[in-house]
Amino acid sequence: MDVARRIRLLIQEQTIRSAVECSGVGLHSGAPVSMRILPAPSGTGIVFRRTDLDGFEIEAISRNVARVSYATSLMKKGVLISTTEHLLSACIGMGIDNALVELDNLELPILDGSAKPFVEMIRRAGIRRQRKPRKYLKMRRELALREGNKSIAVYPADTYSVSYCINFPHPLIGKETFEVELTNGSHLRQIAAARTFGSREDEQAMRNMGLIRGASRENCIVLTRDGVENGPLRFADEFVRHKVLDLVGDLALLGKQILGRVVADRAGHAMHTALVSRILRDKTLWEEVTVDDDVAEAPASVSAEAAAGA
Ligand SMILES: [Zn+2]
Repeated sequence: MDVARRIRLLIQEQTIRSAVECSGVGLHSGAPVSMRILPAPSGTGIVFRRTDLDGFEIEAISRNVARVSYATSLMKKGVLISTTEHLLSACIGMGIDNALVELDNLELPILDGSAKPFVEMIRRAGIRRQRKPRKYLKMRRELALREGNKSIAVYPADTYSVSYCINFPHPLIGKETFEVELTNGSHLRQIAAARTFGSREDEQAMRNMGLIRGASRENCIVLTRDGVENGPLRFADEFVRHKVLDLVGDLALLGKQILGRVVADRAGHAMHTALVSRILRDKTLWEEVTVDDDVAEAPASVSAEAAAGA
């Protein structure tokens, strides 16, 4: 089994080559928004900029996480940026460390409800390797959070992988588990296109609460009592794959890509972001590492495991 060959860790930071833009509406606010992604220097991270508020900037980091319920929102000095997770997930999938994201409203566009349109934008822009070595947050010890029947945990590992389990009382879903190794490009093939979803039954209550003003059949999978109103699904297990997409986007708020194995059971944005802040608070849980050329192609410890037939 050739584990080492399948693992490729980026050695240097990356940004995009040229500016790209799109427009749409926010899923929750229904607000029309134009968005532009621009290249940024090494060490910038992902930074949002509200062009409608004198270019006010909010870094995509845990410290700025605000209210988290149906989406993840960032807030700084009272300025909000909502529903950041799908774009941030695309940045992790494409290996983008540095970018400036300009918005002229308070919520990112939902587009088709997945990370695919963002991935395509980044592809269109092109990727530029930067000189600075890429720093990873490598877990040294495990951390587990539990809340009733929900849980999320992270374990030390040489790569970034996720195992997610959901349990939805719907004939099409029920108990679904999805496990994926993200370090080898699987995000783009298996995760990025999975769309967000909601049920017709909950729709009116959510609309009344003003939670899904921008929702439509074009930007989310609409579940009926026993099926899907706007099929076909992109994957038979698209629902759990979308949860992985959200988790990866929320974990991007660590500010670096994690090296660890994340296991989630019925978690959601609140637990994802709680895990991020707990990891950052306890510096004995992890170390910052860079990878050199040899390790990037074949991490020593992984090669040893592969040789041992693990
Ligand atoms: Zn989502």
